[in-house]
Amino acid sequence: MSSATLDTTRPTLLDGVGGEPTLDELLVEVWEGLTTHRAASCPACRGQMQPEYGAHARPLGGRCVRCGSRLS
Ligand SMILES: [Zn+2]
Repeated sequence: MSSATLDTTRPTLLDGVGGEPTLDELLVEVWEGLTTHRAASCPACRGQMQPEYGAHARPLGGRCVRCGSRLS
């Protein structure tokens, strides 16, 4: 009897398929929130992100009102 088996049922942090959202997915989520004028939450602290507008209707980026993280 061998007990040297790997526990493959436990998800790893590096497994981005079907598990926790990846950083890219988080950023896309924030961007969609900003561009559709909905509330977007900061990927760092979950604070509120405010869109920053330039000369065009679409926001240039966003800034977290809580921790000051910028997304552009
Ligand atoms: Zn933040």
